[in-house]
Amino acid sequence: MIVDAAGFPIAICPSSCGRFFAVVFSFSRKRFVQTEDLPVFNRSPRFWRNESRAQFVKYFRLEPGLAKLKFLRSCARDDVLFFGRQQACSGSFRVSDRFKLSPRFVLAASCFLVFCCLAVVVNPTVADDTAMDKIKVLIVDGQNNHGDWPKITAMLKQYLEENGKFTVDVERTQFTNKGDALLKEFALDDGKRYQALKKAKADPDFKPDFSKYDVVVNNFGYGAADWPASTQAAFTKFINDGGGMVSIHAADNCWPNWREYNEMIGLGGWGRRTEKSGPYVYYNDDGELVRDESPGKGGNHGSQHEFQMVVRDAEHPITKGLPKSFLHAKDELYEKLRGPAVNMNVLATAFASPKQRGSGRHEPILMTVDYGKGRIFHSTLGHAGYSCECVGFITTFLRGTEWAATGKVTIEIPEDFPTADKSASREFKQPVAAEAKPAPKTMKPADNVVEMAK
Ligand SMILES: [Zn+2]
Repeated sequence: MIVDAAGFPIAICPSSCGRFFAVVFSFSRKRFVQTEDLPVFNRSPRFWRNESRAQFVKYFRLEPGLAKLKFLRSCARDDVLFFGRQQACSGSFRVSDRFKLSPRFVLAASCFLVFCCLAVVVNPTVADDTAMDKIKVLIVDGQNNHGDWPKITAMLKQYLEENGKFTVDVERTQFTNKGDALLKEFALDDGKRYQALKKAKADPDFKPDFSKYDVVVNNFGYGAADWPASTQAAFTKFINDGGGMVSIHAADNCWPNWREYNEMIGLGGWGRRTEKSGPYVYYNDDGELVRDESPGKGGNHGSQHEFQMVVRDAEHPITKGLPKSFLHAKDELYEKLRGPAVNMNVLATAFASPKQRGSGRHEPILMTVDYGKGRIFHSTLGHAGYSCECVGFITTFLRGTEWAATGKVTIEIPEDFPTADKSASREFKQPVAAEAKPAPKTMKPADNVVEMAK
């Protein structure tokens, strides 16, 4: 029997879908708690009996209301509700004689058992559909030299939500820069007022609560004004403590003077980056990684074109199973990026052909960086809406976001993934409002975008 601090039993339902969390119902708090921080759950009774105690103590330290969780004795099979696809409701929830049960508790326990049985038997995937199971993503944006940025945020949000594993919020600086033409079409219906400015301006009120999320997707770009120092510090702490970040395209142009940020992205470009920012990192024709310390500007690209991606680390969770090479849709091929490049792993490169005014080198396109306990997925892809329609972009973005949040990848490679010589794109369409389901809020034109007086 496992009880919480108030002496009430806690029912535990290991995930029915093979994902690595369990759902706990605390009768005293009358709420579900998801143990998403728990490591791999083995559903065998032996595991619960012998190993779960330490795991739960570790978890409940993170959950203040249940911090005083007590184990009267080790878990046994009869104490735990098992809801596996193959073993729905095997085992039973036996209440110890040590507890005098109120009718209210018995009713609550009965309702819970019925709920769980129905949830698993009637719809085994129900656990996947509850918000608490999902990876919490925050997309940040507002200032970017790329006019498509409001649309790209909407695309990223839709890709994540359609996948089903993520919930997504967007936080935008109140002063926006560029993207004016798309700001109304892809406005946020969040009740806040925005001012579209001709020049990026620092937003002293931009203070997202990063700690509410598993991963932050950065869709800021070149010329973005600095975040408030307190926001920078909060973000650095978030990553240091184990949060995730995904850097999209020009997000690696941002903030050349923010040291920690440049360590997180590994490599960046423009913004007066030079050899002082760090080495120019590329692959030579022999497949060797070169860290070129010689003087030079950081950041460049040739003309936009389709280019072939080459996987350099086929064992990383993000790239595992991808074809060795695949053709990416029309995009800018970033080159000559420079940065600290510490704890950085290049997953894929592309050859910047001189025919396209490129460097003639194999340039890093997809990278991961470890920073503190945090994980960063850095994709230089995504110049325009059409670049982000590429199935290769979508797939690596989704897998990279999942990895940055959890360290694992469960998202499969779709059948329409591009091949070495044929790119594949999915035309982006805003969802049409279904009869009983209004369109997502961010897709609705709103009236909270204010043009500055000329
Ligand atoms: Zn670009």
